[in-house]
Amino acid sequence: MFGIFGHPEAANMTYLGLHALQHRGQESCGIVSTEGERLYSHRAMGRVQAAFDSATLGTLRGDRAIGHVRYSTAGGSHLKNAQPIGVDWARGSLAVAHNGNLTNFESLRERLEARGSIFQTASDTESVVHLIALSESTDQEARIADALRQVEGAYSILFLDERRLIAARDPLGLRPLCLGVLQHEGRTVHVVASEPNAFDLIGARLVRDVAPGELIVIDESGLRSSFPFAPAVRKMCLFEYVYFARPDSILEGASVYEVRKALGRRLADEAPLPPGDGDTVVVPVPDSGVPAAIGLADRARLPFEMGLIRSHYVGRTFIEPQQSIRHFGVRLKLNPNRAVIEGKRVIIVDDSIVRGTTSRKIVKMVRDAGAREVHVRISSPPTRWPCYYGIDTPTRAELIASTHDVSEIARYLTADSLGYLSLEGLVDAVRTVEARARATTSAAASDPSAADAPAPDTYCHACFSGNYPVPFSPASGPRHLRMLP
Ligand code: AMP
Ligand code: SF4
Repeated sequence: MFGIFGHPEAANMTYLGLHALQHRGQESCGIVSTEGERLYSHRAMGRVQAAFDSATLGTLRGDRAIGHVRYSTAGGSHLKNAQPIGVDWARGSLAVAHNGNLTNFESLRERLEARGSIFQTASDTESVVHLIALSESTDQEARIADALRQVEGAYSILFLDERRLIAARDPLGLRPLCLGVLQHEGRTVHVVASEPNAFDLIGARLVRDVAPGELIVIDESGLRSSFPFAPAVRKMCLFEYVYFARPDSILEGASVYEVRKALGRRLADEAPLPPGDGDTVVVPVPDSGVPAAIGLADRARLPFEMGLIRSHYVGRTFIEPQQSIRHFGVRLKLNPNRAVIEGKRVIIVDDSIVRGTTSRKIVKMVRDAGAREVHVRISSPPTRWPCYYGIDTPTRAELIASTHDVSEIARYLTADSLGYLSLEGLVDAVRTVEARARATTSAAASDPSAADAPAPDTYCHACFSGNYPVPFSPASGPRHLRMLP
């Protein structure tokens, strides 16, 4: 999500912001803008670059806008599900962009339909719009707070009406949300985005993360912050650090890149290699495994080599060769670099194993390219549980680690060895990088011990531990939210 208030090129800036956030969703995208009179919107299937051209952007008038890229899911590729959702109602117009997943959506929808609400989409986000419409408060900010007080689960959410941009983050802070500023013709322009790398492209500066439970209103008079929800212990998604966020983002003060390198270093300590003859190379699965592989190679004092080369032009393919050309899907994206693999003991580093099919194909590909041994190292713990808070994961039965132990998975991958990072190692590495960042950027700089201070468990790690910070009914699971074709 991206939002901007008070810039004459609001739609163009939002387009650039979404471009930088494209990794967070490629299924559909949209921008809604306003000049203060009415809302203008364009939503389309596919990626930002294909969905918008200068003529379309020209129709999105005004100096304020919000935008959204939607995460690709197995089914439900439908324009109706594209965001921002826009509604016209008795009190004007409102657009909403949401990142996350509401865990009490089912019961909310039942309750709302019993009161006469008619849902246009299968999306959980729409229930927020109905709750806002039903609120008896007269002030928009209070209506939004009323609505959000009734939802549970994960939301970083943006609202745009004719007069203001409102941003909120759920009390647990499950999904990220950042606040930035840029100067334009002597005026301060406020921007919000899921990740701060979106600010770099438009010349904005990261000010801070939106705090868990914070509601920010930006209008002609400036920016106001409040905390209208019951306070809770922060439970920031650990998987953002492991895989989802871009490595050039800073989340909660910590560089995602530095965290990933720390995960690799820790992985080298926790899953050492069996003794070898020195002819060993560390090979990342690009791009997701690169920083962890750098950290692992550094700690293990082994050479880092790009033994797998990634094509950056993989799109949808309509021409599939015969089944006899095996591994086609992965091959299209990755090709082994025989020059650095042949005859070597290869340590493949990736961020996670979900179903195991990609890793299995990669191991085979590397062996076929002449590797003498293939060892796999994963910079997170086994993924055993689905996410109900906005990251698309398959059902439990499809997660290989939910039914197989590490040695069984190694056998399935046909790897000579397999090592995962422990949950303790993951939490510890993220916490250490976050604490160091805090100590160097805040008043804590005068208290070096702050960097090592033990912190409570302020992360969600449910997909690794099964310890879900927000209860959910099975019906509110990710599969349920998909729109029928
Ligand atoms: P798999 O073949 O299912 O084991 O896929 C594992 C790969 O998918 C890893 O290399 C990850 O980088 C990537 N991955 C992990 N989680 C997700 C996710 N939720 N969405 C898309 N890709 C993912
Ligand atoms: Fe993130 Fe995993 Fe928690 Fe989902 S379950 S919010 S992916 S840590």
